Amino acid sequence: MPDRTLVDLARMAALDALAVLLPVTCAGCGVPDRALCPECRTTLDGPLIRGRLGASSNEHPSSPPPFDTVAAVAYESTVRNALLAFKEQGRTDVARALAVPFGRAAEVALDDHRDRVPSASGIVLCPVPQGTASARARGYDPVRMLARRFTGHHVPPLLRRVGPARTQKLLGVEERLRNARGTLQARHPLHGVDVLLIDDVVTSGATLLEAARAVREAGGAVIGAAALAATPLRHPENRPPS
Ligand SMILES: [Zn+2]
Repeated sequence: MPDRTLVDLARMAALDALAVLLPVTCAGCGVPDRALCPECRTTLDGPLIRGRLGASSNEHPSSPPPFDTVAAVAYESTVRNALLAFKEQGRTDVARALAVPFGRAAEVALDDHRDRVPSASGIVLCPVPQGTASARARGYDPVRMLARRFTGHHVPPLLRRVGPARTQKLLGVEERLRNARGTLQARHPLHGVDVLLIDDVVTSGATLLEAARAVREAGGAVIGAAALAATPLRHPENRPPS
């Protein structure tokens, strides 16, 4: 089939030419392709991972109400590779593919609250600020980039980091909570504002809880949180009884 061969050759030549400017491997598995290959895209289709963060009012009557989290996929294998490539290696070409599951989680989280806040436009998306140094070095904010793809418009930051970002990787849940406390602050008052927190990955939930604290401190209300992915092993302890 000479025609097919010619097309393939032309395609390869085009890919070779573009390789100088753009990555030509799948960010999920490394096969030669653009962004995410079709097989890796299918892994973005998993069942939603729901959780709940915050103390129950029975245990701690004075603490703010817990809130639900919705993540689109488990943070493992392909999804983990693709997200790390997007966040750490400048693979912004993956944003379009990752914005699909992110949008799915955000839609569900917004839908859960339509009875309370009738118009989805009444709920403000609040990106959780990323680690300062690495975010500045990359020159873009991965969470806000996903949010922009989902909403079709610029999503301004509502929170900022105050004080140095501290590494969380080696800490337990309690230590993470203590460590994160006081690291975020609202950029302006949020009185009367209903907020959906958005993040890339939910791990222990410590950063989301700190973001919720900062929103409430500024007078806002947290209706929930949506993320692209969640670590499946650490998260089930936060799930509400079903
Ligand atoms: Zn792939």
